Amino acid sequence: MNKTYKTYNTIIIGAGLSGLSLAWFLFRQNPNHRTLLLEKEKRVGGAVRTYREEGFLIEGGPHGFLDNCPESINLLKDIGLDHVAQQAPLELFSRYICKENRLHRIPLEPFPCLRTKILGPLAKFRLLADLWKKPLSGEPSVKNWAEYRFGTGILPLVDAALTGTFSGDPERIKIDAIMPGLRHLERQHGSVLMGLFKKELFTVCDKQKSKKPPAMQNFPEGMEQLTLTLTGQLLNNTEHCDLRSDYEVRSFCKHGKLWKVIGPDNVNYCNNLVFALPVNAALHIINKNYQIPPSPITALPTARIVNVALGYPDTGQFPAGFGYLAPEQEKRFALGAMFSNNMFPGRSPRGHVLLEVLVGGRRHPERVRMDDGKLLANVLRDISQLLPISGDPVFSKIIHAGSGIPQLEDGYLGLLEWQKRVMVENPGLHICGSGWGGIGINDMIIEARRTVDSIISDRICNRDIDMPESIYF
Ligand SMILES: Cc1cc2nc3c(=O)[nH]c(=O)nc-3n(C[C@H](O)[C@H](O)[C@H](O)COP(=O)(O)OP(=O)(O)OC[C@H]3O[C@@H](n4cnc5c(N)ncnc54)[C@H](O)[C@@H]3O)c2cc1C
Repeated sequence: MNKTYKTYNTIIIGAGLSGLSLAWFLFRQNPNHRTLLLEKEKRVGGAVRTYREEGFLIEGGPHGFLDNCPESINLLKDIGLDHVAQQAPLELFSRYICKENRLHRIPLEPFPCLRTKILGPLAKFRLLADLWKKPLSGEPSVKNWAEYRFGTGILPLVDAALTGTFSGDPERIKIDAIMPGLRHLERQHGSVLMGLFKKELFTVCDKQKSKKPPAMQNFPEGMEQLTLTLTGQLLNNTEHCDLRSDYEVRSFCKHGKLWKVIGPDNVNYCNNLVFALPVNAALHIINKNYQIPPSPITALPTARIVNVALGYPDTGQFPAGFGYLAPEQEKRFALGAMFSNNMFPGRSPRGHVLLEVLVGGRRHPERVRMDDGKLLANVLRDISQLLPISGDPVFSKIIHAGSGIPQLEDGYLGLLEWQKRVMVENPGLHICGSGWGGIGINDMIIEARRTVDSIISDRICNRDIDMPESIYF
């Protein structure tokens, strides 16, 4: 092993969106803060990845994020992406849900459950039982909780919502893990509907607050424009931030007042060590450290997805809107599809449309493993029954997402308790990233911001960098 070492104020493991935003926030907070960003792969950006081929722009990971998060809005302004961001307002773009081989538009107005034709009159009436149902105790799954409060009629909508976010299974994901806010309303008001109604009333009375629904946003060069811009700005603006890619952190340990981070060919030391990694990648390293109590579970299940991108001549017949989702009950092959051109312009050559069909998810890992020919044939059969498509696509590309989406199932809440305890008991150690404080782009940026606030408010990181007291290789 090379015996050189360096010391930093902060070392960040992982240069996905979490790690990159963290490094940027640190730089903005204190330009002299010495940061080292360590990335296992040759490329940065992690799950965020955009492909351009034959004039089509295709996302391998996230397809956009809502523009209603102050931390993200400020970050985009700060790195100059606010002017170029493309917005697709939710109030203008319909979403569809598949029921009995047809696509039904989900109403855009408030309380869509009451307006949609997907629920019959009895199912709508049953929703009201929520008003006198006692809060459900324990840690119920999303399905059990929704069924108890609102009846079985709502389950296809719940299924579609979970497919559209986690590609998950409502029978396994825990309601307390993903919607603590709704559980809070249930406990505080004795009813979710009553709680929502009071909140709505409050917003209407509060003239200051905008009632405008948010927009989904992306960039002309795709989502990767965000991570590439962040990387470029970091490297151009500061000589105090080092980035090493193709560098896998193997282990770490406490070393006096410092953290020692061990990689393939050297070690580095820091006051603050941040795991900006998806839950499983972080647990893989942390659980090797005997100084830290083992986590209650060693991994979370993940949902893998394949994006089957298809280009067609534009016949003007595609439905307007974001795309559709297919609840599991419909027994369709694809989880749903995005009408990508409608949302964000410039994603296909002139006169063509781009359809991105998502397959797999928590319930169908076997479909992700299918060979490309079979996968494509199944997708084409599936969508031809739902969409006005005739003939073969003029373009197709199959993209396997590099990582899975963490599933907040059994043991997740215990894992969060453990995470908090580890951070409290080990000053200078921070854990954030995909699955820890949510799974979406906005969640990552919020957590990165919070982590930086906690680092900066820590007295230790504002002093000169400590030198290792003794070095043992
Ligand atoms: C298929 C898919 C679709 C998604 N769609 C959406 C969407 O539409 N909207 C939305 O808001 N969110 C979406 N998300 C979630 C969003 O992409 C993630 O929240 C976000 O990208 C996670 O960023 P991260 O930096 O925490 O993790 P990652 O992006 O996974 O980055 C972690 C980085 O750490 C590196 N690493 C791992 N181990 C080590 C190690 N030992 N040493 C050094 N480096 C290491 C990895 O190589 C990786 O680059 C999607 C996610 C996936 C997978």
